[in-house]
Amino acid sequence: MKISVFGVGYVGLVTGACLADAGHEVMCMDIDPDKIARLQKGEVPIYEPGLDDVVTRNVAAGRLFFTTEPSKAVEFGVLQFIAVGTPPDEDGSADLQYVLNVARLVGQHMTSYKVLIDKSTVPVGTADKVRDAVAAVLAERFPSEADRPAFDVCSNPEFLKEGAAIEDFSKGARIVVGTGSERVRELMSECYAPYNRIRNKLMFMDVRAAELTKYAANSMLATKISFMNEVANLAERLDVDIEQVRQGIGSDPRIGYHFIYPGCGYGGSCFPKDVQALTRTASEVGYDAELLKAVEAVNLRQKQTLFTKLSNALDGDLKGRTIAVWGLSFKPETDDMRDAPSRVLMEALWKAGATVRGYDPVAEDECHRIYGQRDDLQLVDDRMDALKGADALVICTEWTEFRSVDFAAVKAALRFPVIVDGRNVFDPKAVKDAGLMYYGVGRADSL
Ligand code: NAD
Repeated sequence: MKISVFGVGYVGLVTGACLADAGHEVMCMDIDPDKIARLQKGEVPIYEPGLDDVVTRNVAAGRLFFTTEPSKAVEFGVLQFIAVGTPPDEDGSADLQYVLNVARLVGQHMTSYKVLIDKSTVPVGTADKVRDAVAAVLAERFPSEADRPAFDVCSNPEFLKEGAAIEDFSKGARIVVGTGSERVRELMSECYAPYNRIRNKLMFMDVRAAELTKYAANSMLATKISFMNEVANLAERLDVDIEQVRQGIGSDPRIGYHFIYPGCGYGGSCFPKDVQALTRTASEVGYDAELLKAVEAVNLRQKQTLFTKLSNALDGDLKGRTIAVWGLSFKPETDDMRDAPSRVLMEALWKAGATVRGYDPVAEDECHRIYGQRDDLQLVDDRMDALKGADALVICTEWTEFRSVDFAAVKAALRFPVIVDGRNVFDPKAVKDAGLMYYGVGRADSL
């Protein structure tokens, strides 16, 4: 099949590369000329494990193409995937300007039947807006209705996780498609046939149900995290080790172990904005989504927790101090720092007059891109270098390499023996045995 994808961010590039890997011919279009130039040279502009290989292989095979020209992309595929950003607007609702821009581009250039596929996370009712946007442009281009090319709009939300995006795209639990059209059903079945061999993962449903499914899924996962953080905060005050409680409840299959790790809050480009957007959708239809508001409020408070613990450990005196921060990305295996808890910590430290000495296996460039060069931000390439002469260590991201650490060496490098473990990666006893003070999340003596 010939397929076009608009947006080469985490979702668009993974979608395009994986569909090409499955044998389709794919044209990816982005308005960012730098990203496209890098991709045309064989460079992948984001860090996503395994993506380089898939992109390189499919470019070489002549199945994956990149362009900045909308007309080329619109002409190329029958299926037109929209995978552009939907960042939060000022009021928390999803900003649909990029999605609707693509819809208008398709309307401007299409000369034959197209299916516009909302892969971006978009609120209920967006497919209608996309349809209206295309129809308005076509009405201008073709005064006579009979001359206008036909099109359909469907919803196909993406459930991939950064860090495991290729695996999730190709082996995900389900492929949700919202459409009422038999023609779209057939085309989408053909598109996803390579991923649908072992068992039928395609779930066809109403367009609005598909749109809500994505928000419901992310909000459910965010709820689990905030719930666990709430219990962890309580555990700290009750002198209970939350890790024992986590195992106690996770063993119940009705609860499960996923997404019940206590920590310094959820971040990334999806959970925060999607919980906010669903809350906003609720208020637009006159419903007060109290639970969703609480999920967000608990998370915002949780992101402050590292600073509070650190400040308590250093007697409230952070001015002039240097704090080592291990892990800058919002989670392991990605360089994405959107809404990362590390940012809340770093910004609070800077406000308090401290210097950040940061280490992250892959997010160094992204951190400089966001904050530029500043005297109170030093990024180093080795985790132990971050500690030399620093006053304390804070863990913001649970990169696997942080799981085995020589605590004696950490103690020798730090000026004060303080570790604030925002992801509970360390065994408190091992840390304390090395003569360090340990502050985790929901663990004894961690307040
Ligand atoms: P991103 O910010 O990484 O990439 C978006 C890309 O779209 C950018 O490269 C931008 O230049 C491009 N773009 C903007 N306007 C364009 C236009 N008119 N034509 C072509 N390209 C254009 O975004 P992302 O993280 O890939 O997310 C995309 C969507 O997928 C969002 O709605 C997001 O909520 C959703 N989503 C993201 C993830 C994730 O893990 N990142 C997972 C599931 C769903």
